Amino acid sequence: MSITVNNLKYIYSKNGPFERIALHEISFKINDGEFIGIIGHTGSGKSTLIEHLNGLLKPDSGSIYIDDMEITSPDCDFKKLRAKVGLVFQYPEYQLFEETVYKDIAYGPSNLNLIPDEIDKRVRQAAAFVGLDDELLNKSPFELSGGQKRRVAIAGVLAMEPSVLILDEPTAGLDPVGRNDLLSRLKLLHDTKNTTIILVSHSMEDIANTVDRVMVLSKGKLMAFDTVDEIFKQRELLNSIGLDTPQICLVMDKLKESGFDIADGFYNVEKAAEIIYNLIKGAKNV
Ligand code: ADP
Ligand code: MG
Repeated sequence: MSITVNNLKYIYSKNGPFERIALHEISFKINDGEFIGIIGHTGSGKSTLIEHLNGLLKPDSGSIYIDDMEITSPDCDFKKLRAKVGLVFQYPEYQLFEETVYKDIAYGPSNLNLIPDEIDKRVRQAAAFVGLDDELLNKSPFELSGGQKRRVAIAGVLAMEPSVLILDEPTAGLDPVGRNDLLSRLKLLHDTKNTTIILVSHSMEDIANTVDRVMVLSKGKLMAFDTVDEIFKQRELLNSIGLDTPQICLVMDKLKESGFDIADGFYNVEKAAEIIYNLIKGAKNV
């Protein structure tokens, strides 16, 4: 599904002493099946923005369309909307509440008027997709590790089979193995099911290795929205809003400064290794 946002403005505590404009007239379009990253410093408006996309927050002005359904219209069917747009909150593991993992994952699909067999199928598929063993399904979620709880919470949203999946800092607090595992599962979901995915993160590395296009937010403003390569060419912009450039990009910058012929853009470790290998090979041949 596509997402169109026009002049979205949101103010917390409007007209009160603590009034704060969290989003300043933001506009963008996300195409069906895109994998989008949102980066920005803490407080830049990332969570506020995505909480508008399933109708949890209502804009002070502006409009939002999911395909051609206007979700900012007063007669929007929110039940229908939330079945299509799945939102995984930051630290979702704190919202588990059922007696068993199975029941927690089944909670969402149970509200969709599905037959029990279909619910069962979805629960098992979603659990397998996030890498939870079948034997964990009958345990209490509170017996699981933090990483496993996170997977249960994500499976609960996946079991709704949303066309749009939004995740708010899903890798926060995970170790590097857990983080890479989750990101590659999301990539697989995107590639196999054509789900539109929005991944919020403040890790440039996570975003750059995973998504097609990146939205950069700063102080409630949309500073840039472009492909990973184009965003990483704008090092000054990224530095000026306090976002760290991945270390490997800094290595490549240094090589470039030293006179090596290296294009601007994003380099993950594998890509960089190949370039450096070829440089060394070339030097040897001289
Ligand atoms: P991010 O997710 O990028 O860290 P948020 O969307 O949470 O940013 O916050 C954007 C701005 O809105 C920040 O300045 C934050 O302090 C403010 N804000 C967020 N939630 C609330 C709230 N419930 N009440 C008042 N201000 C808020
Ligand atoms: Mg946030």
